[in-house]
Formats: sequence, C-alpha cells, structure tokens
Amino acid sequence: MDTARISLVEVGPRDGLQNEKTIISSANKLTLIEKAIDAGARRIEVTSFVNPNRVPQMADAEHVCANLPDRPDVTYIGLVMNARGADRAIATGRIQQLGAVTVTTDRFAMANQGQTSDESVKAAMGIVRQAQAAGLSAQVTIAAAFGCPFEGEVADDRVATMAQALVEAGPVEIALADTIGVGNPAHVARLVRRIATIIAPIPVRVHFHNTRNTGLANVWAAVEAGANVVDASLGGLGGCPFAPGAAGNVPSEDVIYMLERAGIETNMNLEKMISASRWLSEIMDRKLPGMVAHAPAFPAVRQGD
Ligand code: ZN
Repeated sequence: MDTARISLVEVGPRDGLQNEKTIISSANKLTLIEKAIDAGARRIEVTSFVNPNRVPQMADAEHVCANLPDRPDVTYIGLVMNARGADRAIATGRIQQLGAVTVTTDRFAMANQGQTSDESVKAAMGIVRQAQAAGLSAQVTIAAAFGCPFEGEVADDRVATMAQALVEAGPVEIALADTIGVGNPAHVARLVRRIATIIAPIPVRVHFHNTRNTGLANVWAAVEAGANVVDASLGGLGGCPFAPGAAGNVPSEDVIYMLERAGIETNMNLEKMISASRWLSEIMDRKLPGMVAHAPAFPAVRQGD
C-alpha cells in the first residue's frame, strides 16, 4: 500500500460548524482557520456558498473569505451547490478550489440541494467547468456513498456510475462521503478500491462521520485501499442539517494521531491541533467528541528530551 503520506483537508470551518445552532462569530471562524494553518493544514474547507436561509451558520461566507490569512501555500476550498454559489465563491477572489456535491439517491439529493441524483451530477460537472473557466480547480464529493438516510442501502454500482460520469469534467479529486456514518471498513475498502481504479489517476478523498463510531476504522480501511486524502474536522464537530441524526466528522487530531503513530506522515503538528481543539471546546462551551485531546500525551517523554 502506498501510505507513506496522507494529506488531510480540515473541514471544521464548514462541515464542522454548519449544523451548530448557535452562530459562531466570523472572528472565531477565522481564528479556527489560523490555528489549523499554524498546525500544518494546507487545504481547508473554509465555508459554503449556500442560501443563508437554509444554512444560517454560513451567512458570513463572503466576510470570512475577505479576511482569510494571506497564505499562497494554503488552498482555501469553498463548497458550492449550484452555479450561483460558484459565482459567489469565484467573486470573492480568495477561494482557490470549489467543492461540488453530488448525492447518490434522489430523496437525499432533493432534501440536500433540491435536485435529483442525476441532476446533482450534471450540476457538479457544470461547477467544475465553471471553476476551470475562472482559473480555479474543483473537486466533487459523492455524498451518501455508503448509505442514504431516506432510501437505505446504496449500491456500489450507483457510486461507480456517478464517478465515471464525473471524471469527464476533470475534477482534481473525487471524494466518497459517508454523510450519515453508516459505512463499515469492509464496505469502505471495497468501494475505495473500485472507485480508485475507475478514476485513476484522479485521487480518491474520503469523508467520514462518526455517527456509529466506525469513523476511524473507516479512515484506516480507506487509506489501506488507496485513498490519498482524508477529510477531518477539528474536535470532531460536524453534521449535516439535512440528514436526520447526523453526527460529527472524524476528529482531525484523532486521525493525525492514528496515522502518525502508524508511520504515515500527515505533515500536521499533533500538539498544535490538540491545543486548537481545546480552544475550540472553550469557544463551543462543551466537550467535543475527539478523544486524543482529552487523553494524556503519548509517548509522555519524547526521545531526546
Ligand atoms: Zn460531512
């Protein structure tokens, strides 16, 4: 397996916060982004350009973008659902990469973005081309790739058909997202292998929610099966406003701990991420789901100390 290095996408500022009822200030969102960069994050999903009436937490998308740190080495990702969202993201001048979302089933696609599954594929391809025309890159996520909150089981064939179609538009990456946290490592390994073969040389990214505590196991299975990039959220915040019972993303610091201890480089500073997670816990005024930030440091005494 080619697992010497895995890169992380920090999705805390978007997927992590979008489901929070209390509006987090733009200043705190920007501090979160700064702390992630300081800990080594080089790709960050900073916001989404969606209807603020549907996702009030993201109403400050333009304001956040206008105040992003000037870091040519960091790729700022904006999530968009349609051409209008893509226009907004491009207009900020601060987003380098658009993230488009497709959904495997009609019922979830309608709930999430008012499209059928096929329409979501067409829209995503349009968004990728719109990004390219504006000199930006774009990637596409296949949401509910491992199961749907409304329709139940999702066939691997459906995901494969969507991935095959999406490749035509030239996204820089295709992600398999377990939006509702129903995946298991065997399913993940099987689907990642199949999709990686179909879309090669385009890399596979994975996106797991820890709704049923299979998140980290799924990350490991995906990495072994050939996924190159992993989405994670500081502290394990997160959830989808349109998926009933959705829980947090896999916690960034827990993913970093697991991969680094297993000899896989992430280029992230675990201690800085742990302190960022503790800061976020104070901001949110509650204990966050991530576990490594609550555990004693290990090894407690570093070699050379
Ligand atoms: Zn998610």
